[in-house]
Amino acid sequence: SILVMSCSSANAQKQPLYKNKDAPVEKRIDDLIGQMTLEEKIMQMNQWTYGKNANPNNIGEHMKAVKPEIGSLLYRSTNPEYRNQIQKKAVNETRLGIPIIFGFDAIHGYKTIFPIPLAQACSWNTDLVKQSSAITAKESWLSGLDWTFSPMVDVARDARWGRISEGYGEDTYANSAFGVAAIQGYQGHNLKDKYTIAASLKHYIGYSMSEGGRDYHYSDISQQTLWETFLPPFEAGIKAGAATVMSGFNDISGVPASANHYTLTEILKKKWGHDGFVISDWGSVKNLVVQGVAKDTKEAAEKALLAGVEMDMVDNIYMDYLPELVASGKIKIQTIDEAVKRILRVKMNLGLFENPYVDVISEKDRYLLPDYLKVAEELAQESMVLLKNENQVLPITSKYKSIAAIGPMVKDSVHIMGFWEGMGDPKDVNTIFDGLTKEFGDQLKINYALGCDFEGEDRSGFAKAVEVANQSDIILVFLGEKRNWSGENGSRSTIALPKIQEDLVEELSKTGKRVILLLSSGRPLELIRLNKMADAILEIWQPGTMAGAAVSGILSGRHNPSGKLSATFPQTTGQIPIYYNMRQSARPEAGHYQDIPRDALYWFGHGFSYSKFEYGNIKLSNNKFRKNEKIVAEIEITNKGTVDGKEAVLWYIYDPVANISRPMKELKFFEKKLIIAGKKEIYRFEINPEKDLTYVDSNGDKHLESGDFYIIVGNKKTKFELND
Ligand code: BGC
Repeated sequence: SILVMSCSSANAQKQPLYKNKDAPVEKRIDDLIGQMTLEEKIMQMNQWTYGKNANPNNIGEHMKAVKPEIGSLLYRSTNPEYRNQIQKKAVNETRLGIPIIFGFDAIHGYKTIFPIPLAQACSWNTDLVKQSSAITAKESWLSGLDWTFSPMVDVARDARWGRISEGYGEDTYANSAFGVAAIQGYQGHNLKDKYTIAASLKHYIGYSMSEGGRDYHYSDISQQTLWETFLPPFEAGIKAGAATVMSGFNDISGVPASANHYTLTEILKKKWGHDGFVISDWGSVKNLVVQGVAKDTKEAAEKALLAGVEMDMVDNIYMDYLPELVASGKIKIQTIDEAVKRILRVKMNLGLFENPYVDVISEKDRYLLPDYLKVAEELAQESMVLLKNENQVLPITSKYKSIAAIGPMVKDSVHIMGFWEGMGDPKDVNTIFDGLTKEFGDQLKINYALGCDFEGEDRSGFAKAVEVANQSDIILVFLGEKRNWSGENGSRSTIALPKIQEDLVEELSKTGKRVILLLSSGRPLELIRLNKMADAILEIWQPGTMAGAAVSGILSGRHNPSGKLSATFPQTTGQIPIYYNMRQSARPEAGHYQDIPRDALYWFGHGFSYSKFEYGNIKLSNNKFRKNEKIVAEIEITNKGTVDGKEAVLWYIYDPVANISRPMKELKFFEKKLIIAGKKEIYRFEINPEKDLTYVDSNGDKHLESGDFYIIVGNKKTKFELND
């Protein structure tokens, strides 16, 4: 027994290299891979779900179902102890003690819910987006998560597609900039730090091109569009260090995204050098069968892995078929090793081997802290867009003694959080009614009526609404979409609000009083009918936990609106696709729909303020440049209004002649600053020809051509010349 004892203590002292936190990560990974059996490796390549309906009083029961050798769990809970107990099994009760990575969709908040990403982009405030993502990371980590399936950087130009709500709108550069901000917020400086979580760029790639906006459908994308429009935000995210990538459901011109060697391996891994791993979307490996590129799930597993998908979300397909695929020689063991190394690398980078557990602190110290709510209110109010404000009807001044607050959104606390509301709880939501009461309760009378429901035929509430409107000095109507009218599987054939809501406004406008419309939606809306009936329109999106305070603050003037659209509002649904950076038509003056105006109703970049910003002329450091020179553009903007306000300045470039035609303008840079009333600010854009004046071809190769360019900002446009 003495011999046995000394042996085991010697073993205990000889810690394997992979457990030595000071050894280089790649050495640790090699050491670990060298000790793993094929089964252990394959287990790492699967993600199961766990925790959705877990009963906090019965942790043991649920834990029986978890195989601790599993690579990852899709985990939804507010109980960090679950995670720690499961993790303990993985660390202590498996042969090699490999920790599990716990992932979930914390998309725009976990408990503190921020506005949906489409709205966040309208803030043009990347700092706030970064802060909100850091808060999300902290709340998530303290709930037991290591990893979020966010940000979504699918450039979306079809508002019928419900998932337009989950990304940063129609522009490529905006998706890059906000995607990077979100990654920086989630991942912090070092993934090993507490409170940071790994990001997952999704949905790689082209998912937003699902035909006709029908979710999950075929997407036909030319190589030119792939390189020009869809890839850049992913490339930016990879450069910013995104730990993982999720492969989409969509079939890209015949080769589904989850079986696409070109995009997953040649571009993502070889060209961009991504060294983390790719997780499939939910069931997207299995879907290869219904999409008609694999004869059965076994072949689906083979195709997905060979294309570059390292982890299968929820279907167990890798677990079920990789052993035989390896045995038959269809999959090489080196392929498995490469895949597992990527997964282990992310786990090592997260510090999971040395710190497998999360801190357990009280819920009141974990969620909805005052600082978090402050950021939530700020981001919500900066993301709201004042689409229309005739005769400066807003803000509501003291001349009004009463307001009518009408509509299905007034007392709502569910839909206002939007899709993917994390663990957001309606009871934590500051409703519009709460907000109005706090903001105006002392100074004027608030008369409430529901008016109508979100949809349906029931007009019985109209009479009461009209009565309430007649008793009030001004009418506020809060309309909108239910949360699941956008988001995943939330596509709609029309982007107009249901007729009942429009009819309600028509009835109210017959009172002859001023009508202010407040719209909560997960997409741009068709407002051709409503626009005529309203004196003012504020798009509030799905603002999240602090909805009430944010909206009421804008109505009272406590907040000065500063949001600008990240996606165009068409005249009608039939005008889709319509986006600001289209290419010129062969006959610019002709070819428009005969029944509607040629322009969109509200273009990308549109949004009013209570201040009045006057743009000076664009000043260029020179108007002739060589390709290796930097060009500095400046514009002076004066706040001619009486209140301080933030102004987001969007800088565009137009290249009128090139070997591959260019869009009529392309966003290259933006910046938002506060301008004190009566004061001015200079905005500066340093144009880097390599970055800002190049275009890509259909192979992804960059070209910089000499010739004339235009720089466009606000209503100003200036020409300059680029020489060899
Ligand atoms: C969605 C993804 C999401 C995943 C996990 C899928 O259905 O498409 O965006 O991350 O589910 O919840």
